[in-house]
Amino acid sequence: MSKVVLQSVLTCPECGHSSTDTMPSDACQFFYDCKGCGAVLRPRPGDCCVYCSFGDIPCPPVQEDAACCQGNGPA
Ligand SMILES: [Zn+2]
Repeated sequence: MSKVVLQSVLTCPECGHSSTDTMPSDACQFFYDCKGCGAVLRPRPGDCCVYCSFGDIPCPPVQEDAACCQGNGPA
């Protein structure tokens, strides 16, 4: 049984505000409202969720090396 970290420190690229958030273990979060400046963050191209792009810990599916949500939706 792998140990998946559900908490990721997400740092806003706009204002540098960081906050610790709990990630959903079975889904990817695409949008994130910065608690500092209110900017709506979206994943960088190639990343599946905001935690992979801006968090210090990638999302649980990526930690488990699962297929995640990549490949779903339009390229
Ligand atoms: Zn911000």
